[in-house]
Amino acid sequence: MNKKLICFDMDGTVYLGEHLFKGAKETFEYLKQNDISFVFLTNNSSHSLKFYVEKIKRMGIECNEDNFYSSIDTTIRYLKDQNVKTLFVLGVKTFKEELKKHFQLIEDYQEEVPDVVLASFDTELVYDELKNACLYIQKGSKFIATNMDYRCPIEDGLYIPDCGGLCKWIEMCTNKAPIFLGKPEPTMIYQVMEKFSVSNKETMMVGDRYYTDIVAGLNAHVDTVAVLSGETTLEEFQKATKKPTYIIDSIADLIDLLEK
Ligand SMILES: [Mg+2]
Repeated sequence: MNKKLICFDMDGTVYLGEHLFKGAKETFEYLKQNDISFVFLTNNSSHSLKFYVEKIKRMGIECNEDNFYSSIDTTIRYLKDQNVKTLFVLGVKTFKEELKKHFQLIEDYQEEVPDVVLASFDTELVYDELKNACLYIQKGSKFIATNMDYRCPIEDGLYIPDCGGLCKWIEMCTNKAPIFLGKPEPTMIYQVMEKFSVSNKETMMVGDRYYTDIVAGLNAHVDTVAVLSGETTLEEFQKATKKPTYIIDSIADLIDLLEK
């Protein structure tokens, strides 16, 4: 198989919580030896790239910031392409700091309506912000969201509300649905392919969740590899109308697949 870039989901694909999956280390060593680039894609905008670099390094995989692409990068690039100047953001402090480098952020409610209301995985949300977001959208701000995930997995099989859930709340009030940017939209993969100057035929997407990882790959017209080490089961993958290109038990089987 002649792949030059492999995009990986992280949680459920490479590791679970703090536990690196068997065979993951060998897989990344194989990719390096064979000159295949790898990028970890994340929809989570509540952590900086530095956070992920440290986490993956701690698990024993050599990497740097170039090996990561998040919904933060995707969003900044998208908003710049759209010539957006002013934003009202529902998001954590670190995300807002990153956005401030590129856009004017409106903090409170004011007469001037921002170009965009941007929703993200906001673990620091307060009601007044939610209210202001709804008012701005009703007054004409575009509604954009970093990712459509309704919930985010935590330990013990439990979930907490994510960006998509938050957007539902706003949608119920404003009757407006957002434009979503992270997986399963293909935008993130398109941007990464451009960054690494590779074609869709040379790219592959590996992930555990059908409706985000695999659908993102399908939408971007790249080969997709579903792993059974995470959220979606074999039955669910098989039931899907548009199926992943390959289904493997875990990341440990990826080398064999690439050797074919
Ligand atoms: Mg996952």
